[in-house]
Amino acid sequence: MKIFKNRDFENTIKSQLRKWLIVITVIISLFIFIPTFYIEYRQTIKHQDEEMTNYLDAQAYFFDSWVTERSMDIHMIASLDVVKDYNYEESITYFKEFKENTEFTDLIFVNKEGIVQFDTVTEYSKNGIGVDVNDREYFQAAKITKEPHITDILISKVTKQPIIAFASPIFDEKKQFNGVVMGTINLNTIDDLLHESRVGFLGRAYVVNQDGTLLTEFNSTKQNVVGAEKKDVLSQKYSIDERVLALAKDGITQSPVSYKNANGDWVLAKSQLINQGKWFIISEINIWEAYMPFVKRFALLAVCILLGSFFTIKIMLTITRKIEEPVQQLLEGVGSIEQGHYAYKINEEQMAPYAKEFQELCSAFNQMSAKVKADTILLKELSITCQLTKLYNRRYLLEYGETVFNESTKNGVPCSCIALDIDFFKKVNDTYGHLIGDEVLKHVAEIMMKSVRDTDIVTRYGGEEFVILAPSTTLESAVKIAERIRREIETNPYEMKDKLIHITVSIGIAEYGRLSTFEELLDEADKALYVAKESGRNQCKVYEGAKNDYAFSN
Ligand code: GH3
Ligand code: MG
Ligand code: MG
Repeated sequence: MKIFKNRDFENTIKSQLRKWLIVITVIISLFIFIPTFYIEYRQTIKHQDEEMTNYLDAQAYFFDSWVTERSMDIHMIASLDVVKDYNYEESITYFKEFKENTEFTDLIFVNKEGIVQFDTVTEYSKNGIGVDVNDREYFQAAKITKEPHITDILISKVTKQPIIAFASPIFDEKKQFNGVVMGTINLNTIDDLLHESRVGFLGRAYVVNQDGTLLTEFNSTKQNVVGAEKKDVLSQKYSIDERVLALAKDGITQSPVSYKNANGDWVLAKSQLINQGKWFIISEINIWEAYMPFVKRFALLAVCILLGSFFTIKIMLTITRKIEEPVQQLLEGVGSIEQGHYAYKINEEQMAPYAKEFQELCSAFNQMSAKVKADTILLKELSITCQLTKLYNRRYLLEYGETVFNESTKNGVPCSCIALDIDFFKKVNDTYGHLIGDEVLKHVAEIMMKSVRDTDIVTRYGGEEFVILAPSTTLESAVKIAERIRREIETNPYEMKDKLIHITVSIGIAEYGRLSTFEELLDEADKALYVAKESGRNQCKVYEGAKNDYAFSN
């Protein structure tokens, strides 16, 4: 039975531990990784949201304050007496002076019919004077509402530039509408304004109106729109993607949204209404920059988990070795015992580095193997010995005799066999009982042992029959040995307390010589014994088929 051979590698302690170790490490890693990933991600979004909201609040406040101030500037001008009195000369002087010191690019005086009277850019040139702005939304709004008004993006009829305008109604003495003062501001100014207020913010911010037209981020090439229709120019050059606008509108209330902006970059964006809800200010931050802190923390976490897993696996593999190696030694020991090497011992000193249980197991194994060895030797001895006479038994003779015979045959040395039977032993039993019979058997065995050489094998063949196998012994020598034994037994009766029991034996002798098997040798010795019995007992006889014939006396 080869129970420890052909072990399937998949089922070894090592492979099992490795497999489960990897599974456990992966599970633990996922349990750490997934929630941390989620929390970090939420925190990053929250942080960006807060940062963008703060930034937008600041910009919206800054921008709205600026718009209010500019609106008040124009309102103040419209309330000047020189303006109310239509004193053009003084008004122009004032307008020019005012323009020089402020961000306005042009200041325009419009009469109550909506005809431009003068402006600071074109003065009395054809371009400006007489332009009818009655149809303009800002003029109508100022006229109807009698309140200051701020326009959306416009292409100036005077300068042909994209502008926004601040309009304020002029009232006569009777508080009746008497015209409009308008101040225009180049869109670049709003751009600069946003740039001024973007301290510490990494991303990009721009202003759009409700239609999605950009009011900031104008560069020099975009500004020259002379000769083009306003609507086309605006839609072609300054419109933002409708989808982005929709997302920007969502971004007012929600967390930041992400999309691909006009430059093709993925951004995280949030927006806020400004200018009394007319425009949006949108701030965008590159998504990579937005998530950078998250990516860094995430990478750190991944590195920590990888390092943790690496060291855990290393430690576990060391533990695995500490289990596997002693088990391996035990398996080797068990394998040796299985193959009959009962003397195998595990070196207990080598077990010192391993767990106490393994040391105990190895010590128990060594004790067990020692006991198995002793028991096996005993069993072996019992199986080949006659307990009564302490001679070898028939089993031993048949096993070992065969070997001796074959070796002698091979080496060409003689080998003789002596068969011995006690004469009328039945009578001894009948007369003195079996116990005495046993003692007589022991007595005969002792005499035989004393009469042979160490190399001769004396066996109790069965009952009161004995066989001596004498290796390297010629027939002549065997006859001498047999005769000596016969005589010794005859002259040494068994001594009871008050009696002597005289016994004799008959002996048959054979030598292998011409024989081919051990059984034949035994058989011939037995035949010679039969002859000795037939010839009157208490004598030795050589198998008659043998070459030499010896004469024996009684
Ligand atoms: P022979 O001269 O023809 O050999 O006569 P014998 O009586 O010796 O031979 P037989 O075969 O008739 O009797 C052998 C006896 O040996 C029978 C048996 O009771 C006795 N015997 C065999 N083994 C033992 C033993 O172990 N102890 C005792 N006490 N007697 C034994
Ligand atoms: Mg007999
Ligand atoms: Mg007998």
